This record gives sequence, structure tokens and C-alpha cells, in this order.
Amino acid sequence: HSHAQPRAVAKQAIPGIGAIVAVASGKGGVGKSTTAVNLALALQANGLRAAVLDADIYGPSLPRLMKIAGRPQQIDGRIRPMENYGMKVMSMGFLVDEGTAMIWRGPMIQSALLQMLREVAWGDLDVLVIDMPPGTGDVQLTLAQQAALAGAVIVSTPQDLALIDARKAVNMFNKVEVPILGIVENMSHFVCPNCGTSHDIFGHGGARAEAEKIGAPFLGEIPLDMDIRLNSDAGTPVVVSQPDGPHAKAYKEIARKL
Ligand code: ADP
Repeated sequence: HSHAQPRAVAKQAIPGIGAIVAVASGKGGVGKSTTAVNLALALQANGLRAAVLDADIYGPSLPRLMKIAGRPQQIDGRIRPMENYGMKVMSMGFLVDEGTAMIWRGPMIQSALLQMLREVAWGDLDVLVIDMPPGTGDVQLTLAQQAALAGAVIVSTPQDLALIDARKAVNMFNKVEVPILGIVENMSHFVCPNCGTSHDIFGHGGARAEAEKIGAPFLGEIPLDMDIRLNSDAGTPVVVSQPDGPHAKAYKEIARKL
């Protein structure tokens, strides 16, 4: 359509960054940040130069998930990203104290986000993974429109409620013509460590069915697993702490499909 061209031009690609991929969810607590971090590390393990940006301004979790503390330094007037596990990371959590409530209004948040995108010395990257804020508000829309996204990965649990919200996220990206790279079903099933039986705590297969319905690729399932939770919260994501384990393998397979 006639408006497509100017909008594409208005999107400002970031020099040196091959592709920007958003990891999004319709609601919080579905494991979006855990997925974003492990996917970025999986992309890196697959041989790509990857970095991750925490756009979750109100609840930044990347400092904890990546076990990074301290303040970023400036170089040549730009912000030097923090780094762990060989991966560059930027988060509002490095700029404000943990526990400090963010009381910013929309425009301030938008400019902070765009600054983290454009004024950080990311260097040459094949892919920058953005851990999006949950939901489909103004901030998400701005980022989707202005970050020149190559596409979005939607994370959902198999649960109906989470899926309804995931659908809203898909609609938002469709509206701004950001391709949906696919859907990941997180907390897909639980394998009992004692008896080995698989339990579908939040149901199972909902995300796959949803992906089919909207014509988006189904990227894979990640089980509900104690190891994922413990390592996530300890800042030792499974892709780096258990590189030969089944979860690392699953994330790397998903990363290959992006
Ligand atoms: P979101 O970014 O969607 O709010 P998080 O990634 O912060 O979600 O995850 C919420 C909580 O669930 C965290 O404690 C995290 O460790 C845990 N979690 C995420 N994915 C899994 C999983 N597959 N198995 C077990 N725990 C998980």
C-alpha cells in the first residue's frame, strides 16, 4: 500500500547490527526474559554475534538473569554495554538501583529505549535480541515501529489466557508490519524427576495450534523445569551452564529456525 514505503524508510536501521529480533509476550510471567536470554546465548553458541537488550523498563531482569552488576562506562560519548558469557547486554537495570520504582511517563521511556538502542556501542552484531516489555502498550508499539525489527518471537504458555494475550501481541506486530518469526511454547510440560511421567500442568500444544491458526511457524517447546528456573534465577542460563543438556539443545534448535 501507499504508506508502506515512507514507514519503512522512517524506521532507522542501526549501523553494524544485522537484524533486530524482538522476544515478546502478551502477558508477564510466561518466561519471556528467560527465553530471550537463552535464545541470544543459543544464537551465539550457533556461531552468530549476538547481544541482548532489555526493553523491560519497569521490570528489568537481564542484570539478574545474566549475573551482571555495576554501571556501564562511556566511551567516546557512547555507552559501553555490559558483558557476561561473551555477550553484550544493556538494561535499564544498570542505570537505576534495584528496587527503585520507575515513575517515568511514556515519552521519557521511549527516549530511554531509543537511546539504549542507538547510543550504545554495540559493535558489529549479526543479531540483537530485544527482551520486550510484556503486553501491547505504547512502549511496545513505539519500539516495534522505530527499532526496524526484522521480526518478533512470541512466547506463550499453553494456557488459554496466555494464548489470548499472545494473540494480541501478534496482532500488534501485524499492525506495524513486523513479521512474526514464530511462537515458542514455554512451560510446555513437566517431566516428573522421580517417576519420569510427563504432566501438562498448563495444558499442552496450545501454542502449536495457535501458530497454525495464524500461519506463523511453531518454533518449539521448552518444558517447565526446575533446572531452567534455578539457573535463570541464579544468573547462569541453561544454555551456558548446561551446554550439552536437553534444554540447551532445544534453545539452539529454536535459534536455528529464526
Ligand atoms: P517474563 O519475562 O515473561 O516475565 P521470566 O522469564 O522472568 O518471565 O520467568 C518468570 C519465572 O518463571 C522466573 O522465575 C523463571 O525462572 C521461571 N521460568 C521461566 N521459564 C521457565 C521454564 N521453562 N521452567 C521453569 N521455570 C521457568
